[in-house]
Amino acid sequence: MIGRRGTSRSWRRFLGNPTSWVGLAGAGRRRRVLPTHPPADHAGRSRLFQARAVLAEAIAIAGAPFMAYQTINPFDGSVVQTFQEFSDSELASALDSAADCFAGWRQTSFAERAAIAHKAAGLLREQSGDYARLITLEMGKRIEEAEGEVALSADIIDYYADHAEAFLKPQPLKPESGEAVIESSPLGVLFGVQPWNFPYYQLARFAAPNLMAGNVVMVKHAGCVPQCAQAFEKLWRDAGAPAGAYTNLVISYDQVNAVIDDPRIKGVALTGSADAGKSVAARAGQNLKKSTMELGGSDAFIVLEDADLDKTVEWAVWGKMNNMGQCCVAAKRFLVVDSLADRFLEKFQAALAGLKAGDPMDRATTLAPLSTEGALTKLVEQVDKAVSDGATLVMGGKRLDRPGFFMEPTILTDIAPDTAAFREEFFGPVALFFRVKDEDEAVALANDSDFGLGGSVFTQDVARGKRVAERIETGMVFINQPTWTAPDLPFGGINISGYGRELSGLGIQEFVNKKLVRVALIDAAA
Ligand code: NAP
Repeated sequence: MIGRRGTSRSWRRFLGNPTSWVGLAGAGRRRRVLPTHPPADHAGRSRLFQARAVLAEAIAIAGAPFMAYQTINPFDGSVVQTFQEFSDSELASALDSAADCFAGWRQTSFAERAAIAHKAAGLLREQSGDYARLITLEMGKRIEEAEGEVALSADIIDYYADHAEAFLKPQPLKPESGEAVIESSPLGVLFGVQPWNFPYYQLARFAAPNLMAGNVVMVKHAGCVPQCAQAFEKLWRDAGAPAGAYTNLVISYDQVNAVIDDPRIKGVALTGSADAGKSVAARAGQNLKKSTMELGGSDAFIVLEDADLDKTVEWAVWGKMNNMGQCCVAAKRFLVVDSLADRFLEKFQAALAGLKAGDPMDRATTLAPLSTEGALTKLVEQVDKAVSDGATLVMGGKRLDRPGFFMEPTILTDIAPDTAAFREEFFGPVALFFRVKDEDEAVALANDSDFGLGGSVFTQDVARGKRVAERIETGMVFINQPTWTAPDLPFGGINISGYGRELSGLGIQEFVNKKLVRVALIDAAA
C-alpha cells in the first residue's frame, strides 16, 4: 500500500485507497448526442432512444444547439428525469435577484459569510450519503469516490470560510511619500459554466472563494447533472444564504451568451473543454470582462529508471482510472524509460484487466460506467481512429457488451506524432503508452503537447524529480503521485488548458478589484 504522509486531510479522503484500484478506470465529451444505445432488453425504450437521437441530430443539422437537462443513469441508460430550461423572463428575474442580492451581500462581514459557508460545509457532511448518491446516479462515479468528492467540497468551503479575510486583507505599500494601500473589493455578480465530472467539487471551488469575497454567483451546470446542480443551490439556501447569492441556471447556450452580455455580470469562469472555453472566453472578451478558463489536459506520467515500480504502477492505475479517467488531470500519457517499460506495461495491463464492471452504487465495483452515451461513443471512436492511423491496441478499446455506458480499460501504443491521437485529450479509461530512451526524451515528449495542465514524475531521487518538474511546461507538476487537488493548492494550466487559478490563496484573488487607495500630501509637487 502506498503511504500518503504529507497529503492533506481532504486529499487523503478523496484519494481513497490506491491499492483497492489495483486488481482497478475516465470520459470526455458527452452529450449533445442523446442515448442511442438503449438497455438491450427494452425494445420500446430502444425506439424512444432512436427517436431522441434522430431529433437531436435533426436539430443539430438545423444549426440550433440541442439543450437537454436530463438525469440519465449511466449504469443502465434509463432516463430518470428531464428538466425544463428557463424561459427568458425566468432568466431575467434570476439576474435581477442576483444583482439585488449583491447590493446587500457585499456589505456583510467576513464573519457573517463564514457562518453561512461553515453551515453549508456542515450540511454537506451530515447528508453526505444523499449528496453522493446523486452524483453516482447522474454521472456514474463510484459511490466511494462520490463520498470523497462531497467531503472535499465541504473542506473547500470551510477553507475559504476560514481564510478569506486574511487572503483579502488590505495590503499597505511603502511609497516614497504619503500612504498607499491595496484594498480588495468584490466585483459583483459572477457567472460560472461548469462540467459534470466533479458535480459538486467544481461548484465548490468556484462558489466558495467568490461568495466569501463578497461576490454573488450564478452557475450554468452541465446538462447531465441537473439534480446535483439543484442540490448545490439548495445547499446554500439551507445554510442561510440570501436568495440570489447562489443561483443555478438551467439555460441554453444562447442564454449563456445573453448572461455574459448582461452588464451586471462582472466576471466569467468556465471549467470544461477547450471548445467551450473558446466560445465563452470570446464572448467575455467581446464584453471586456475578466474570465478564467480551466480546460482540458493531456498530462504526462513520467516514469524514470529509478522509480519504485510497484508503487508507481499502483499510482498509474489510480491516476488513469479514478473517476473512470474522466479527470482533466488524469494521467493520460504514460512515458516510461526503456529499462522499466516492459515490466511497467505488463503490471499496468494486468492491474487494468482485473477491474470489475458493475453498479457504481455497489462498493465492490471497480469499473464504473462513463458519464454518458456521447462520452462513450466519442472515446471508442477516438480509439478506432488511432488504430486506423497506425497505433497498436495493447488491450481493450471496446464498449462492454452490457447495458449502460461501460468501456474496457484500454492501452494504446505506437502513436505517431502526426496523428490525431498524439494531440487529443482522451477523456476516459484510455492510456497512451510511450517508451522513451531517457529523462531528456521524456521531458521533450511531455512538452510536445498543446495542453499544459498537470503532470507527474516518478523517481526515488526527489531532487532529480524537482529538476525534471522545472523543465515541464504545465501549471502543475507532482512528484511521485499523479496530479491531484486540495483546497490549499492552486489549480490551473497554461496553453490550451486555459488561464487563471482556482483554489488556494490565488483562487480568491481572480474576481476582486485590487483597488489602490493613496493618501498624498496636498502640498507636494506631483
Ligand atoms: P464541455 O462539453 O466543454 O462542457 C462544460 C460546460 O460548458 C457544460 O456546462 C456545458 O454545457 C458548457 N458548454 C459547452 N459548450 C458550450 C458553449 N459553446 N457555450 C456555452 N456553454 C457551453 O466539457 P465536459 O465534457 O463537460 O467536461 C470535460 C472537459 O472539461 C474535459 O476537457 C476536461 O479536461 C475539462 N475539465 C477541466 C478542468 C480543469 O480544472 N482544468 C476540470 C474538469 C474538467 P452542456 O453540458 O449543457 O453542454
